[in-house]
Amino acid sequence: MSYDLIVIGSGPGGYVCAVKASQLGMKVAVVEKRATYGGTCLNVGCIPSKALLHASEQYAHAAHGMESLGVKLSGVELDHDKLLAHKDSVVKSNVEGVAFLFKKNKIDGFQGTGKVVSAGKVQVTKEDGSTEDLEAKNIVIATGSDVAGIPGVDVAIDEETIVSSTGAIALKKVPEKMIVVGGGVIGLELGSVWSRLGAKVTVVEFLDKILGTMDGEVSKQTQKLLAKQGLDFKLSAKVTAVEKGKKGAKVTFEPVKGGDAETLDADIVLISTGRKPYTEGLGLEDAGVKLDDRGRVEIDGHFKTNVEGIYAIGDVVKGPMLAHKAEDEGVALAEILAGQAGHVNYDVIPSVVYTQPEVASVGKTEEELKKGGVAYNVGKFPFMANGRARAMETTDGFVKVLADKETDRVLGVHIVGFGAGEMIQEASVLMEFGGSSEDLGRTCHAHPTMSEAVKEAAMAAFFKPIHM
Ligand SMILES: Cc1cc2nc3c(=O)[nH]c(=O)nc-3n(C[C@H](O)[C@H](O)[C@H](O)COP(=O)(O)OP(=O)(O)OC[C@H]3O[C@@H](n4cnc5c(N)ncnc54)[C@H](O)[C@@H]3O)c2cc1C
Repeated sequence: MSYDLIVIGSGPGGYVCAVKASQLGMKVAVVEKRATYGGTCLNVGCIPSKALLHASEQYAHAAHGMESLGVKLSGVELDHDKLLAHKDSVVKSNVEGVAFLFKKNKIDGFQGTGKVVSAGKVQVTKEDGSTEDLEAKNIVIATGSDVAGIPGVDVAIDEETIVSSTGAIALKKVPEKMIVVGGGVIGLELGSVWSRLGAKVTVVEFLDKILGTMDGEVSKQTQKLLAKQGLDFKLSAKVTAVEKGKKGAKVTFEPVKGGDAETLDADIVLISTGRKPYTEGLGLEDAGVKLDDRGRVEIDGHFKTNVEGIYAIGDVVKGPMLAHKAEDEGVALAEILAGQAGHVNYDVIPSVVYTQPEVASVGKTEEELKKGGVAYNVGKFPFMANGRARAMETTDGFVKVLADKETDRVLGVHIVGFGAGEMIQEASVLMEFGGSSEDLGRTCHAHPTMSEAVKEAAMAAFFKPIHM
């Protein structure tokens, strides 16, 4: 079979690229080795984790959080099977949604492992071992990422006791004790889920802060709020061993700066130390496609590898491992292949941590601005001073706007607060258009809303807030 475009991998990068390319008139095929489309994100990542986050939030709220509102509930119980069934049904409807989009856009799907034989040639190996050869003018590698282990430590992930995120979204019961190795986004989100459902969760993190790449003040505040919810943190702790016992598992760690080692045991240990690009079985070496020093497919500014007609996007290339980054690259690449001016603005890619409260950020952190020698103004506003937040008892957190001292152009916005993941979008739009903190502060915001705190923080960056 011959195509204009073959996409290998049907995650947010691959499927979005395929749909866009088809919309632009190309004949497209997608090769996916999983039984269902949608990649990590829809099958075992973003979507199932959010289903569990939402359900566990509702449970915690019903169990502990409504008396002060005058709502008394008793007999609140967790139905574990239903919790997992909800997650599974959300995944099912999302992956079926991608299959529907393929059908609607006349995209041919091939189930099997795709191998790049050479420019223009892909071989698909199906589950029964049979192969099919496909041809195309262009090939897109969108094979995503896989769980990375702990550097220098031999960890046997069995997805039962020692789990990756994939096992952690399918635990058969709520653990009594859970250790989360890695205080990044995935560890904090899934740690929050099981903590809300009753597990005693300890997060062991190598760095001296959680959410390593986020603004320092944001990560401090988030840690405080999560600690209030019952999560324990062991920071600056280097894990040296993770061992499965007869019952549960043990994690040994020592202070990064030296000192005595400590060992904790738990029913479940979640390894969430990051993800690595996935290129296994793709045959890239034989096809002559270069990888960089971190195992990512090397691309130029137009997603092109060193081999003519072979491109790559998403988690398998440089940049933040985020679904929306992969999607935007998919759209931009399809546009480039159609002769249009596809482009991704890497300076304005929001990132959200779906803990409660949520943490959201776009643009530069204070640490990055300081390091870059950029003079900036800071405007901050706490949700404690926001009427809607008081009404909803969601006063934890703040908004921080960072603007260039000279031009007032907004360089970064950071939010810890209920609904932060939705509120950050107005900052992204503003920054995409090169807006200033004055633009944001003078934009009329509906009252009473949580997002008035964004306006007030912007006002604080260029002059003064009203309500503080
Ligand atoms: C628990 C968890 C929660 C997450 N939550 C979020 C979130 O809230 N927001 C967010 O933005 N990001 C989140 N992410 C990250 C997000 O899932 C990834 O950034 C995103 O899926 C990357 O998309 P992709 O298209 O590059 O690759 P993937 O989604 O990984 O898809 C790649 C696909 O390629 C297939 N494949 C690989 N090799 C081959 C081959 N040789 N032949 C055929 N098929 C192949 C794989 O089976 C897979 O289906 C989360 C990740 C995890 C693990």
